[in-house]
Amino acid sequence: MPKFGGKVAVITGAGSGIGQAMAWRFMREGASIVVVDQATAAADATVRHLRAEGGETVACAYIADVSQPSAAQAMVAHAINRYGRIDILCNNAAILSETSVVSCEPEEWDRVMAVNVRGVYLGCKYVIPYMLAQGGGCIINTASTAAHVGLLNRAVYSASKGAVLALTRQIAIEYAGNGIRANSISPGSVESPLLIEMMNRQANPIAYRADLAAKHPLQRLATPDEIAGTAVYLASDDAAFVTGTDIVVDGGLIAR
Ligand code: NAD
Repeated sequence: MPKFGGKVAVITGAGSGIGQAMAWRFMREGASIVVVDQATAAADATVRHLRAEGGETVACAYIADVSQPSAAQAMVAHAINRYGRIDILCNNAAILSETSVVSCEPEEWDRVMAVNVRGVYLGCKYVIPYMLAQGGGCIINTASTAAHVGLLNRAVYSASKGAVLALTRQIAIEYAGNGIRANSISPGSVESPLLIEMMNRQANPIAYRADLAAKHPLQRLATPDEIAGTAVYLASDDAAFVTGTDIVVDGGLIAR
């Protein structure tokens, strides 16, 4: 029995990595998927992949920069026009910045906060009215272990993910009485294109990867699918009493 038959999921950053894995998992569980990304080719590739398995109507792409209010609003309108409802919103798109407080320029600070925090806020702002009208829904925001522990050269990234935790709690409290649940996921290091590109920028990518894996007590990096599985749980009836919390999926990284 699919968990999400007849349901609709809007997933940002679904052209790549964790978002793409979420799209795949939700589709396999019966949901229709709106694949949102600012990268057209990536979004189209995810949609082709989903349609090859689930049929022509199972997914559509929407190209949007989630940090822009008009784009976020249009994304929601597109989902409603196409599928008539939104049951699950995964605010997953984000960008990395490898800067310290001193080396991060104000423009970089604003650029990262705009995608990683304002993008989450805008997605919620425009989706929640439809969830209220439907009588409920589920919001899943992708945070990071960077929201929980200090890391070198992650000043604005960590701050942005800390804001995602706080905003998630806020949404959970504000709309708990309306059947809307909101939670976040904090992944450790996940072998997605974002992480692979970051590793490839290092002087010795192979040694860097081995070192990063060894920092996780489980001695490896996560797959995007392992994070997507937690999103499926959070959106499912098994998590009906779970709201306002964060699930850390990090191979034991922050338990050390
Ligand atoms: P990724 O770069 O592989 O995928 C992110 C996608 O988001 C890309 O397709 C990109 O085009 C899209 N995107 C970026 N900015 C956008 C914007 N303004 N509007 C619309 N789309 C935009 O990254 P990933 O590793 O899959 O990361 C997904 C989420 O997981 C992010 O929130 C990231 O911070 C978080 N995360 C990742 C890791 C990791 O190790 N990979 C660890 C912790 C948290």
